[in-house]
Amino acid sequence: MNVMLLGPPGSGKGTLAKNLSLEVPLIHLSTGDIFRGAIQRQSPMGRTVECYLREGKLVPDELTCEVVFERLREEDARRGVIFDGFPRNVAQAEALEAYGGVDCAVLLELDRESNIGRLVGRLVCKECGSIYHLKFLPPKVRNTCDVCNSELKRRPDDQLEVIGKRLEEYRDQTYPLIEYYGTRGKVERLDALLPAPELVKLALEKIGTF
Ligand code: AMP
Repeated sequence: MNVMLLGPPGSGKGTLAKNLSLEVPLIHLSTGDIFRGAIQRQSPMGRTVECYLREGKLVPDELTCEVVFERLREEDARRGVIFDGFPRNVAQAEALEAYGGVDCAVLLELDRESNIGRLVGRLVCKECGSIYHLKFLPPKVRNTCDVCNSELKRRPDDQLEVIGKRLEEYRDQTYPLIEYYGTRGKVERLDALLPAPELVKLALEKIGTF
């Protein structure tokens, strides 16, 4: 089974995907995490995608699909995947059909103001990727990860100028996926502002019905 988390940047896809992958035997596949890891390692792919992430633009479909499909061919992806940040447009969704497509698209909905607030206050652990928020989910110790004690950072693309571009990309490229999967009866809507444990519970119920 393949589950996709759909929603604008900052809607909580990463946190929900991490939490869900602890509950179900599906791997968490975040294209954003793969790209950021490659940039950190300064691999050839990382150097290619760096400018797209810096500017909040989508990485070209061909490269993105190549990266995702390579991961899908690995043994642990056989039972299924929780996609976080993929597909990002209809072309990617169509390409994914050859790999089983998406059984359920969980749509995280929130208003624009909360959306921007979430992005501006987000903090991420450099080491383990745990996600916090200055106001809504602060770490126990300032700027320090509760899980591994490493330093927390803001994502470079969570700067206001880049946020605008990312939300524009979402509206123009990703939003049409709601109709793409909606007409196929695969969209399940959730209120992104619910507390994390409740979101996990509701998402599991939705996924379970598929
Ligand atoms: P995310 O962590 O999902 O917010 O993604 C961060 C950035 O990675 C995006 O702004 C894009 O530059 C790039 N990215 C992630 N997923 C995709 C995708 N499916 N297609 C194209 N670019 C992507």
